[in-house]
Amino acid sequence: MSAIHSQDTIAAIATPPGRGGVGIIRVSGKLAQTIADQLLHRSLKVREATYLPFFDSKNNVLDEGIAILFKAPNSFTGEDVLELQGHGGPIILDLLLKEILEKGVRLARPGEFSERAFLNDKLDLAQAEAIADLIESTSEHAARSAVRSLQGEFSNKIHELVEALIHLRIYVEAAIDFPEEEIDFLSDGKVLGDLDSIIDNIEALQSQAQQGSILREGMTVVIAGKPNAGKSSLLNALAGKDSAIVTDIPGTTRDVLREHIHIDGLPVHIIDTAGLRESEDQVEQIGIERAWKEIEQADQIILVADSSEVTEFTPHSIDPAFERFEPFKDKLLIVANKSDISHVDQASLNSDYKTIAISAKKGTGIDELKSELKRIVGYQQNTEGAFLARRRHLDAIERALSFCYLGKEQLVDFNAGELLADELRQAQNALSEITGEFSADDLLGRIFSSFCIGK
Ligand code: GDP
Repeated sequence: MSAIHSQDTIAAIATPPGRGGVGIIRVSGKLAQTIADQLLHRSLKVREATYLPFFDSKNNVLDEGIAILFKAPNSFTGEDVLELQGHGGPIILDLLLKEILEKGVRLARPGEFSERAFLNDKLDLAQAEAIADLIESTSEHAARSAVRSLQGEFSNKIHELVEALIHLRIYVEAAIDFPEEEIDFLSDGKVLGDLDSIIDNIEALQSQAQQGSILREGMTVVIAGKPNAGKSSLLNALAGKDSAIVTDIPGTTRDVLREHIHIDGLPVHIIDTAGLRESEDQVEQIGIERAWKEIEQADQIILVADSSEVTEFTPHSIDPAFERFEPFKDKLLIVANKSDISHVDQASLNSDYKTIAISAKKGTGIDELKSELKRIVGYQQNTEGAFLARRRHLDAIERALSFCYLGKEQLVDFNAGELLADELRQAQNALSEITGEFSADDLLGRIFSSFCIGK
């Protein structure tokens, strides 16, 4: 498979755009060493950092820096790789890249270095995805869990399960080959015992992957309330001093303001509905309707009320305009804020709606509110065993499990060895999709093209 891909030599700037102390260009493929000879006017020792000038084709010094040559297969991509560490200015890096591209090298596509690493068996698919997730992670928890996947912990679990499935399949298939003994083979308890233990292990993996998926995706919370109810104060109290509130640049959406915080490592995407008034303007109306669609899809709605002004904690009595939230009662949480000046406390609250008394100013009730939010998405603070799973991983695990359940039915209800073996094969294929041993080319294309250039 790798032969097709190793024909072209590719290059890209690997450091982010902008100015910095160092800028790195990576070159991978057969021409890497030739490029090094031409650009550096001398032969590099393999895997040794050498400080020297970089020359253009007219023998002018373009920059000076560190060059390292890796020979296949001992490199990130498994091909010959040249790494040039020059100065991190956009002009100088572009000039250097142009110089390289004029020597028969082409610009790498997004994710192409990782794709080659995958095709040359340096990484499996889950590990390649973990690189992208690590770079894009927005919290320490997420980063740590991406590193665990990168180091192969997630892949190893998958391999163990695939091995166990293969083992059991071979046993069942052997039984099928001896028809007169098949029934004994299947009903001796070993097959069912092994299958049950595989199911337990896949279920455990599923729960670790779900934790990781929450870490990766976070939860969406709508915050609503009348002006001065304390929405901004609440946001600050939730974010705490360790987590910055990141606000999306206004103007990209005219309807709602988005903010992103972390609650004990859980990414929380806040939709602020402050500007969500009824409007005569048609364009604004479209925006408002779109915002309502998001509200309907959010994991949680928090309605903030100033408890020194409100006596009854229902959406309607907080403001008739909030009646529209009433159909979402299941995911609606009313926060009775300013408990410090209203003498409303948790015990005195009596509402049909789930209500928490807090003081954003004093910090009272904030821990309870945080726990409630974490509980809603099933986030456990201890994410030690979590894998930063993607939707496609969860889908594959889910499918593998249902094949196992079906297989168990075939075994228990019908003693049907052949059908059980087939379900086991499908479960094995589903799990193998995660590490990429059993994946369609278009899936690979989709995964790697979402990476950034130079990765
Ligand atoms: P927003 O308009 O809903 O974002 O409200 P703000 O967060 O800006 O708060 C409005 C006013 O209420 C500010 O003067 C806050 O200091 C005050 N405030 C917010 N939360 C509390 C609270 O828990 N107790 C008291 N006493 N004042 C608060």
